[in-house]
Amino acid sequence: MPLSANNPDRKSWLHVDKNSDFPIQNIPFGVFLTRDDIITIGTRIGDTAIDLGALHQLGYFDGIALTDDIFLQDTLNDFIADGRKTWRAVRHRIAKIFDAENAALKNNVKHKEIVLFRLDEIEMQLPVQIGDYTDFYSSIEHATNVGTMFRDPDNALMPNWLHIPVGYHGRSSSIIPSEIPVHRPQGQTLPNGATEPVFGPSRLVDFELEMAFITTDANDLGEPIPVEEAEEYIFGLVLLNDWSARDIQKWEYVPLGPFLAKNFASSISPWIVTLDALEPYRVEGPKAIKPQLDYLQYKGKKSFDINLEVAIQPKGAKELVVSKSNFKYMYWNMSQQLAHHTVNGCPVNSGDMMGSGTISGSTPDSYGSMLELTWRGENPIKMKDGSERKFINDNDTVIMRGYCEKDGTRIGFGQVSTELLPVFSKK
Ligand code: MN
Repeated sequence: MPLSANNPDRKSWLHVDKNSDFPIQNIPFGVFLTRDDIITIGTRIGDTAIDLGALHQLGYFDGIALTDDIFLQDTLNDFIADGRKTWRAVRHRIAKIFDAENAALKNNVKHKEIVLFRLDEIEMQLPVQIGDYTDFYSSIEHATNVGTMFRDPDNALMPNWLHIPVGYHGRSSSIIPSEIPVHRPQGQTLPNGATEPVFGPSRLVDFELEMAFITTDANDLGEPIPVEEAEEYIFGLVLLNDWSARDIQKWEYVPLGPFLAKNFASSISPWIVTLDALEPYRVEGPKAIKPQLDYLQYKGKKSFDINLEVAIQPKGAKELVVSKSNFKYMYWNMSQQLAHHTVNGCPVNSGDMMGSGTISGSTPDSYGSMLELTWRGENPIKMKDGSERKFINDNDTVIMRGYCEKDGTRIGFGQVSTELLPVFSKK
């Protein structure tokens, strides 16, 4: 089935800035609160938010098998559960409705008043109710850097790393959309040289530059998803800042892995960009260093060329871009991650979220965490206001952005922007 919604020649009658992340070829999905305090599922073209619930009530999706209330919901879970055929039909229809050649809605002032919103009239919400959150560890550069710092430079990768897309089960209750601030966590740490732990604010709060994919209902208990079918069950991707408290992590992670160092917050960008929209940006992934077991072997291009960056903005000062990376660096791709996740029969549901793991490149300016960028704080970064950062300070805002670009078409994710507040205190 050709993806006509991706037609690079299509123009919209809605205004789109030249460098917008959201041309008519994108058509992401999200959930927002409107100026009338109504929650709805929507999309975005340029800087216009579009109420899909209202469009559906007005009959613009006639002919597509959708329940009446599919977009009048506070999460995308049911829509995502309808499957890829429905996502495609809806995305294609939206492309047609907003095509510069189509005057039906363009010339209907009344309908436009109901359906279209400026961005300052809406408030983005978490797009899905995330049932389960898994975080992988799939960047070989990141795993090597962390292994070098915390263990042994000569054996930086654990023996399993080149055979298994290593991951752990995270926590979904603290996943939040962009713009929701996060408090510096408190916890147990073992100060350098001490033999007994202390309790207090984490002193090493860090970001992790990640992407995450959102799944649909994929399999029944006991049923593995073959690697070649995995993409059928991936709805789309978001940017993910997987906040981490490195001092808490270091003390707690043996032997069962991350716990309180990770589950105080994970921030995501609010628009889910569909895998279909990313189709033109497929690239080959890194070559396997060691042979991989059959269930992890795939054909074709399963990696995506997505430019990523991280900026830190101290309060009242200009931001500084501290890292530029790319999703294509991932050693293990999403298909391999999903095949591995289900090879034992673990069921995956609509609205589950799978993080990539920190996305580091091979050069020091492409590392995806402060831990690596400052090498445990040994090489602080100078901000534009003259202050230095080893990790994230109170009232810093961390901003992650991502986009693809090819042949003049740019598909982006917008941003995930989060302020780190001081330790929580009851007023
Ligand atoms: Mn992570």
